[in-house]
Amino acid sequence: MRIVLVDPSRTVRKFVLRLLSARGYDVLAFGDAQDALNRIKVDPDVDVLITSAELISMTGMELCWEVRLLASTRRPIYILMMSAQRDGHSVAEALDSGADDYIGKPPAPEELYARLRAAERLAGMQRELIRLATTDPLTGALNRRAFFEAGVEACDRADAGGTLSAVMLDIDHFKRINETYGHAVGDQVLIAVARGIAAERSDFGRIGGEEFAGLLEGYDLDAAAAFAQRLRARVEALAIETPRGPLTFTCSFGVSERVPNEAIDDVLRRADVALYDAKNHGRNRVGVADETMWVSDYTADGRPLRTGPRKRRPADLFERVAEAMQVSPAE
Ligand code: GH3
Ligand code: MG
Ligand code: MG
Repeated sequence: MRIVLVDPSRTVRKFVLRLLSARGYDVLAFGDAQDALNRIKVDPDVDVLITSAELISMTGMELCWEVRLLASTRRPIYILMMSAQRDGHSVAEALDSGADDYIGKPPAPEELYARLRAAERLAGMQRELIRLATTDPLTGALNRRAFFEAGVEACDRADAGGTLSAVMLDIDHFKRINETYGHAVGDQVLIAVARGIAAERSDFGRIGGEEFAGLLEGYDLDAAAAFAQRLRARVEALAIETPRGPLTFTCSFGVSERVPNEAIDDVLRRADVALYDAKNHGRNRVGVADETMWVSDYTADGRPLRTGPRKRRPADLFERVAEAMQVSPAE
């Protein structure tokens, strides 16, 4: 558990730091509230803030509010406020400002440890709730909602400057796998594919029954296609044991690079068009979409051949996308 400790007094900092270090807590101590806040902003591993109510660059209550704004449904931070004032009014003000708990200053060691144990219990439960709310239970990948939420944020960051590409993948002939080997084996294939993805990236989502997607920040189209090729080869090399012997399987991929101000749905829609083009060209390959939604051709091993736009009306493409998107979302 990483703790940020803020108190303007060097003596108090030293005292509390010694208590916390004795119990093995990872503590970062600050004399100034703004410095502490800056650290919390950039360090997602901070679980607990112990702050004095009496600070210098801002009040303890203001710091509480700032940290509450940072703490979100995906990032819980437990705030323990310390103050020499233990009257009801002061305690109420601290709790109303967003503190989770309150302790006298200087804190009594046993009381401090007990309050941190309570914080740890709560943080553990919150982490578990977040995990349950954001991941797909079968594969452990992000669920559709969490993936799209993260995707909107990734698009915002890309608008501030940077490239962003999308990768979509779909298991080939998955219906046949289910029909031949049974649903339980199908599930094992899904898990195996998700593990293969997780070996490369932890931010992919399961966005449909047997479809996964990821957004690669800082990747242009070629880099994303190279990544997809690596993942394609990784999946191709996987095998699971079944009563009928080892089973291998493949995935088809589609990649697209986001154009400025493009919505996440549109980037993915173009990747999906490329994916279905990969399906039409024999599967187990990577389709690459250009920004006009025309899809390039590929070599047999899936490398894009930039031969220019195909003669296909966009209306046809949209119909195919609409058809391809009719997959029941797995949540
Ligand atoms: P293609 O190569 O064109 O993608 O063919 P496909 O058979 O993989 O394509 P399709 O999308 O038609 O089939 C998807 C199948 O995935 C249908 C559905 O029964 C199955 N499926 C969806 N979710 C699950 C799941 O959680 N477990 C299992 N075992 N099967 C699932
Ligand atoms: Mg499929
Ligand atoms: Mg599918």
